[in-house]
Amino acid sequence: MVADLAQLPQPAILSTLVLAFVLGLFMGSFLNCLAWRITHGESVLRGRSHCASCGHVLEVRDLVPVLSWLLLGGRCRFCGERISARYPIAELACGVAFASIVVRYGLTIECVEMLAFASILLVLSLTDIDQCIIPNGCIIAAVVVRLGYIALAGWLGLLPEGQSAVDLMLFSAASAAGVGVVLVLLAVVMDRVLGRESIGGGDVKLLAVAAFYFGWQQTILLLIVACVLGIAFGLAFAAGAGSAGEAEGEGGADGEAGATGLPAFPWGPSIAFACWLCMLFGQQVMSWYLGLFL
Ligand SMILES: [Zn+2]
Repeated sequence: MVADLAQLPQPAILSTLVLAFVLGLFMGSFLNCLAWRITHGESVLRGRSHCASCGHVLEVRDLVPVLSWLLLGGRCRFCGERISARYPIAELACGVAFASIVVRYGLTIECVEMLAFASILLVLSLTDIDQCIIPNGCIIAAVVVRLGYIALAGWLGLLPEGQSAVDLMLFSAASAAGVGVVLVLLAVVMDRVLGRESIGGGDVKLLAVAAFYFGWQQTILLLIVACVLGIAFGLAFAAGAGSAGEAEGEGGADGEAGATGLPAFPWGPSIAFACWLCMLFGQQVMSWYLGLFL
């Protein structure tokens, strides 16, 4: 266990970060594929990677994260169909997320927990962008990862600040339940005011999961960041919706109109991004904020 990478010699730090980044790239590639299969109803366990347009089975050289896409000029090697830039972007994002999490948490069990959570966040961001769906499977996986972490770290006596596993479990569950209930009430009120669905069920579940990980205090902060990002992303989405004629090359049901004709807008990626910021800086911001009153 190395909680602080700075304890390591320079070359070890560098190689650890490069390794984390490359692992993140490959994980990003796998998660892209996983998200695509979830939204297209394909088995996530069986079948080899194939082009979304022509169905040609991809070879190893087509599957190198980012590089394959760049070398092929963003097109399928077999049918020449364009491959969305979101694939290399998601791979890079995953690489950066992995490296940053390793910097923040060092080589610890908590680091593994956060890498797993970040991976789940990437999958649900992609499915939310594609079809405005946050799969229940992702929510359940996130809960299982958190429970596994608390149980294992508690058993090994590695929980921060000498917390007991039971205390942390209760606090996490109470935070999730509290945030969940408040958001459901808020959603009911906002639905009435706006006359349409305001906060999706998947978003409420995701924010409850965030509270399960970070506690209710940090989740308030996270919610504010997610709202700001959501507005920014929403404006960009609305601007892009006009030129949405050019489909993403892989079909899908994106751009579905809501009951009022407004496009259904995915909030999941903004929440996921806020979760990532919370992983990196949540504790620091909290300490700083509490320090103001002491
Ligand atoms: Zn193809």
